[in-house]
Amino acid sequence: MKSSNEFSENSQTSASNTRRNVLVFVAIIIVCLCAVRLLAPAIVEKGKNVVKPHSPYLVSAEAQALHESLTIMDWHGDSLLWDRDLAKRSNYGHMDLPRMQEGNVAVQMFTTVTKAPAGMNLSENNADARDNITLLSMVQAWPASTWTSLKARALYQSARLHRLANEHPQSLRIIKTRSELANGLADRVENPNLILGLVGAEGGHALEGDIEALDELHNAGFRMIGLQHFFDNELGGSLHGYSKAGLSDFGRQVVVRMNQLNMIIDVSHSSEKVVRDVLALSTRPLVVSHTGIRGYCDSERNIPDDLMKQIADNGGIVAVGIWKEAICNDSPSGIAKGIKYGIDLLGENHISLGTDFDGAVTTAFDVSEIATLTDALLKEGLSREQIGKVMGGNGVRFLMENLPTR
Ligand SMILES: [Zn+2]
Repeated sequence: MKSSNEFSENSQTSASNTRRNVLVFVAIIIVCLCAVRLLAPAIVEKGKNVVKPHSPYLVSAEAQALHESLTIMDWHGDSLLWDRDLAKRSNYGHMDLPRMQEGNVAVQMFTTVTKAPAGMNLSENNADARDNITLLSMVQAWPASTWTSLKARALYQSARLHRLANEHPQSLRIIKTRSELANGLADRVENPNLILGLVGAEGGHALEGDIEALDELHNAGFRMIGLQHFFDNELGGSLHGYSKAGLSDFGRQVVVRMNQLNMIIDVSHSSEKVVRDVLALSTRPLVVSHTGIRGYCDSERNIPDDLMKQIADNGGIVAVGIWKEAICNDSPSGIAKGIKYGIDLLGENHISLGTDFDGAVTTAFDVSEIATLTDALLKEGLSREQIGKVMGGNGVRFLMENLPTR
C-alpha cells in the first residue's frame, strides 16, 4: 500500500508532467504559427503572381531610348495585397519600387483588393463563398480589424502605401490632386526614380453598404473605385456574378457622390448593365482600369466593343491588360496587337495600360522589363506619338482633367 506522501509525490509529478506537456504543445503551436507567418505568404504569392520563364527580351536601342523618354503610367496593380517589402527588389511577384524604377514607371494606380471568394472564375461567382482574403489577412498578420471588415482592409492597404511613401520620399509620392501630379511630374525631371502613386479600390464592397464610407475612403486618399470585382455586391451586378444586374439604388448613390468628389469610376469587372447604367448616370468619363477588348480577345473577362466605344466616346480610358484571360495572346507582340486593335476601334486618345501586375495573374514580363512593350509597339508600326499616349500620356491627361484640382 502506498503512503499518502507517495500519492502526493505522484500527483505532483503528474501535474508537472501535464504542465510540461502543455508548454511543449504551446511552444510547438507558436513555432508552427511563426513558420506559417514567415513562409506561407511568399509561398502563396509565388503561386499567384507568376512571370513566365523566358530568356531576356531584346529591346532595340531605339525602343529603349524612346521608352526612357516617355511618361509611363499603369492603371492597375495589386501589390499592396501581398506581404513583400515593396521598397526592396524581390525575385518573385511583378512589381516593387526598384523594379518600377528599372521600368521607368512614372505613375501607378495602386489598387486595394478586399474580397476574393474561393473558386473565382470568369462566369459566375457566389459572393458568399469562403473569402480567401480573410485567410490571407490572418496569415500575413494584418490588424485584427481587417479580418472581418472589407473597409478596414482597403484602409490598411492604403496606409501601407502611405507609410512606404513616408519612408522613401525620393522613390514614392502619393498623388491626390492635379497640382500634386503636375508638381510630381516636374520633380521627375530632376529625380527620374520618383514614382507617383495613386490609391484605388477594387470593388465598391469596400464601402460595406455605407455611403459615408465613400467620403472616408476619399479622405484616406482613394481617387478611383472599381464598382465591382468578381461577384455581385451592394452596388450592382458583376460581369462575373450570378445576377448580371444593373446598378442598385445604393450603386446610384455611390456614382453620384463619386462624381461630386471627383473620384474616378472604374467599371472593370462590372456587368454590362452596370456599365450602361453608369454611362447614363455619370457626369464624368469612366475608366476600365484593366481589361481586354472583346473583338480582339473573345473572353468573358471583357465587355463588348460597342460598350467600349461608348466609354471612349464619353471621354473615357480603356486600359489594356497583359494577361491571357484579357488579351488572349500574352506575348509582348500579342499585347501590342491588342493595343493596336484598341486604337483602331476607339482612337489613340483612349487606350492606356492596365497591367494587373500582382493581381494573381501570369504575365510574360515583370514591370522591370516593360520596355519590351514599347519595343513591340514600335515593331507593330505605331508612331512614337501613339506609343507615348498609350504608355502613359493618355492616362496622365485623364488624371489632369479628372482628379480634384486641389
Ligand atoms: Zn481585377
